[in-house]
Amino acid sequence: MVPLHRSHLRWRVGAHPLVLIRVDDYPRWDRPLEEFLAFDALLAKYDIPYALGVTPFLGIEPRKGFLEPEEVHVLQRLSARSVTIAQHGFTHRPHKWHGRYSVELPAYSQSEVTEWIGRADVFWNQWNLPRPEIMIPPFDGITPESLVAISNRYPIVTGGPASLTTLGPVAPGVRLLHSLYLPSYYAHMYAPSLFALLGERLWKEATGPFVVLTLHWAWEARDRYARVEPLLAALAGRVDPWDRVLGRVERRAVH
Ligand SMILES: [Zn+2]
Repeated sequence: MVPLHRSHLRWRVGAHPLVLIRVDDYPRWDRPLEEFLAFDALLAKYDIPYALGVTPFLGIEPRKGFLEPEEVHVLQRLSARSVTIAQHGFTHRPHKWHGRYSVELPAYSQSEVTEWIGRADVFWNQWNLPRPEIMIPPFDGITPESLVAISNRYPIVTGGPASLTTLGPVAPGVRLLHSLYLPSYYAHMYAPSLFALLGERLWKEATGPFVVLTLHWAWEARDRYARVEPLLAALAGRVDPWDRVLGRVERRAVH
């Protein structure tokens, strides 16, 4: 079922690749909200639009499966400032897949995924937040089976190094079922030692129409963002908003 680098299935956006930023893990189970706010302030300082992966029923201990009111208020403020709210699974609790990988989504049956989606959409509506159009599978764990129900609801699905195994080696910009697939592979994820070298290279060395750079704010909080800030400065004002991709996906869906 997985098309492998078939160029005719790829999205064409013109000569210049779109560079998009994905930020995982809001909120984080082990770090205070203030640290996230400091990270967001840096992205705002350098005028970098981003998609924030929100886990609406975060259940990793000590979290009990819901967001605190202050965490929701922050989301409302971010949304008003045009930060793209994406969904990062449902609980983010790890389940083993083939004994090797941690996953969330592939642990559910299709009807369970559909139930979770319904519960999540009640949550977004209840708090007057936009319903996310991007699913960021926790641990980058997505399989062809778990993609079915997800793809019926989210026009964009992301992946990463782990999904090379759980789903297959699919290039960014390939259409999978009803979704556009936008994974982040090395060096666009898990390459903090290369932060100082990225910047311009994200555009120059792109091999396809999309580059999705993924940042884990909680990892960068450990040095108070000293490692990531030069990269953000190099990207200042040049990153594309996710709306540019979402607008194209929706237009295509209409035709
Ligand atoms: Zn995560």
